[in-house]
Amino acid sequence: MPTDITAPTQAPRLKALSEACQQYGTPLYVYDSAIMARQYQKLTEAFAAIPQVRINYACKALSNLNVLRLFKKMGSGLDTVSIQEVELGLKAGFAPEEIIYTPNGVSFAEVQKAVEYGVRVNIDNLGLLEHFGSHYGHSYPVCIRINPHIMAGGNAKISVGHIDSKFGISIHQTRHLERLVESLNLRVEGVHMHTGSDILDVDTFLSGAELLLEVARKFPDLQYIDFGSGFKVPYQPGDIATDVEELGAKMGSLFEHFCRDYGRTLSLEFEPGKYLVSEAGYFCCQVNGIKQTTATVFAQVDTGLNHLIRPMLYDAHHDIYNLSNPNGRARVYSVVGYICETDTFASDRQIPEVREGDLLAFANAGAYCYTMANNYNSRYRPAEVLLHEGEARLIRERESMEDLLRNQIDLGI
Ligand SMILES: *Cc1c(COP(=O)(O)O)cnc(C)c1O
Repeated sequence: MPTDITAPTQAPRLKALSEACQQYGTPLYVYDSAIMARQYQKLTEAFAAIPQVRINYACKALSNLNVLRLFKKMGSGLDTVSIQEVELGLKAGFAPEEIIYTPNGVSFAEVQKAVEYGVRVNIDNLGLLEHFGSHYGHSYPVCIRINPHIMAGGNAKISVGHIDSKFGISIHQTRHLERLVESLNLRVEGVHMHTGSDILDVDTFLSGAELLLEVARKFPDLQYIDFGSGFKVPYQPGDIATDVEELGAKMGSLFEHFCRDYGRTLSLEFEPGKYLVSEAGYFCCQVNGIKQTTATVFAQVDTGLNHLIRPMLYDAHHDIYNLSNPNGRARVYSVVGYICETDTFASDRQIPEVREGDLLAFANAGAYCYTMANNYNSRYRPAEVLLHEGEARLIRERESMEDLLRNQIDLGI
């Protein structure tokens, strides 16, 4: 499925991006709320035939309060992976029962904190579950994260389903799990899986879902089954996107059969992050200089791996637009950052002729971009802007020296 940006409607958006850069400076993250709404709607429509469906936005993808509030308004719940994300969710106005907390490798003290907040707790480790059971027994419901060990995508760096993965309770430990649940009198209200970041093939995903449903049959008090995420969006022409219509239709009939056997209608849940926000985001920067070597023409930009690390960390492809010269003749560039470390955003990429001072925009910069930004080289993290109802509004200020010095203790030595 092509993304909006390759469509002829691209021009006005590029204009909105350059205007935002002129107003707020670079580097700058810009998010389009209409694209988030479009994605949320596409998902809910694909699953409309299923009686009870809940989408929980995975806020680690993009955690600005305003974005959380937009999803709350659309009717979404919230998927969180840390107690701080739980607190952000509560602050954004989500009710505790609309928040699911799915941590990995946390202390019991943090889980207790989540219980105090009253959010739904999803546990992915037998030891922690035992601890939870001895403490709360039947008094606080729990969800259990199962690892069905399916490999959802091709990229091992973002697959969490393999046998030695640190995520989830292995499906091969189901007997052990059942014994624990019984002896501690746990109230299991949900089962969960999250297999990785890319569903390239709906049928592979469904075979994981069937395994999860097998486990679900063993727990009679369930309220919901959470199938996690893995919804893929295209990052470049030719990329496979998860076919949500196909998934919705196949999942619908699978789930309906399950509920009939189970004897009750349960709620079906998903927790997408990337699908909902990736395409809504653009990361804008300015070209500091053009540097020619014997083999390469570098376009050097006023940002680096400190602000957008996905190309370096995951070999992620982000389309690049020249906002200042969109109709220029295409030439080949390596787009590199200003960090004292190799930080190549793109090698040998065709971009309309780039000149010093031009504004560039990286596409698909909504998910796992700002939230992974840091202060390496003592650079400030960028500002964030939301395009919403025809306006470009600042939703996070650019950092300043004060932010870099906050929490540092000057010993006066
Ligand atoms: C990161 C994460 C998600 C979201 O994954 P996307 O690929 O962004 O959709 C969902 N659930 C859990 C438990 C996660 O850790």
